[in-house]
Amino acid sequence: MDHFTYRDGLLNAEEVPIPLIAESVGTPFYVYSTATLERHYRVFEEALEGTDHLIAYSLKANGNLAVVATLARLGAGADVVSGGELARALAAGVPADRIVFSGVGKTSDEMREALRVGIRQFNVESEPELEALDQVARAMGKRAAVTIRVNPDVDAQTHEKISTGKAENKFGVPISRARQVYAHAGALEGIDIVGVDVHIGSQLTDLAPYESAFTKVAELTELLRADGHDIRRLDLGGGLGIPYQRSNAAPPLPFDYGALIKRTVGHLDCEIQIEPGRLIAGNAGLLVSSVIYRKEGEGRDFLVIDAAMNDLIRPAMYDAWHDIVPVREPGSDQPVAPVDVVGPVCETGDTFARTRDLPLMEAGDLLAFRSAGAYGAVMSSEYNSRPLIPEVLVNGAEFAVIRERPTYAEMLARDTVPQWLHRP
Ligand SMILES: *Cc1c(COP(=O)(O)O)cnc(C)c1O
Repeated sequence: MDHFTYRDGLLNAEEVPIPLIAESVGTPFYVYSTATLERHYRVFEEALEGTDHLIAYSLKANGNLAVVATLARLGAGADVVSGGELARALAAGVPADRIVFSGVGKTSDEMREALRVGIRQFNVESEPELEALDQVARAMGKRAAVTIRVNPDVDAQTHEKISTGKAENKFGVPISRARQVYAHAGALEGIDIVGVDVHIGSQLTDLAPYESAFTKVAELTELLRADGHDIRRLDLGGGLGIPYQRSNAAPPLPFDYGALIKRTVGHLDCEIQIEPGRLIAGNAGLLVSSVIYRKEGEGRDFLVIDAAMNDLIRPAMYDAWHDIVPVREPGSDQPVAPVDVVGPVCETGDTFARTRDLPLMEAGDLLAFRSAGAYGAVMSSEYNSRPLIPEVLVNGAEFAVIRERPTYAEMLARDTVPQWLHRP
């Protein structure tokens, strides 16, 4: 469920008509709904009710300070994968002791900063990382709270680029070697083992892979405890999928995911952590764009719009589907015809949809990509020297620009021309 609905013939974000925002900031832009973000956070809270838990929002889905602050106010923790995300989480008001640090390539500088501010835990992904963290922590006279990310070798049955729990993926340590790695960690003075971590991928549309992964984690927990480790926290990662295509079968509900967690690991009496990103932010955002041209092609028409792959890369990168809707509500008797929706970037990959049935739209008409709140703005670039597009947050009848569109001058000011090119 989201809060983007038609009212009086126009698509609204909560109580704000989209054309009003378009007039104010120009197109293209991202718009997020506070009510939707809050609702999705609470759905996870309800799903885990009765357990000692922390919902660590995965910043990489949408790291805008205003989005993170909206969730931080509800008590969310944060899952970060870089020093930059750590800075964002802190700046948005997430307390350090609710921040977990994931990722296969943490640098010593990032570790030092995370230890300095006192984060909750490091999710360690390899033995070399364990050694490096031990050294950094000891040099600071500290002990780093650690879970080790295990790779349970289950197929998340999602897109290959976002599947992370198979043996051939780069993530975590093979679960078959986990006891050895824990033994190694247990012998390091700078390391304080607190739990086990697993994250098998993103956009999961079936609970079965979670069931096998969590069951393996539960078995491992018993073994590790028998080995003498004080396993008191289980971080079960993120990855629950969202309905990108409304006509498809709905993915599992957070409530059922919560029930599965309680059933598979509840008996271990551990603190439960989850790291949802997409499910919280995905359907809380739209990408709004204008039609520049309607172009007749051979056998098909093209809708050339002012958003492009640099603004929303998911279709080009993952062959992702986004529902596209006109901002002006089509009448029920309005005919639809297939069009290719494309951006202005000089690559054939800059195609958002092929032969998509849409009502007739003309130059100047507004359209919206649904489910664009996660892995949208955060993955954007200025390819083709197209400035990053603005982000807007709606809250009831109010809206605010939460990231400005840079001017061309601001964009160019980030480059510098070396001295020798100024010499005659
Ligand atoms: C990406 C990621 C997440 C969030 O995944 P979603 O599919 O957005 O829920 C959580 N944990 C880790 C370690 C990740 O890399």
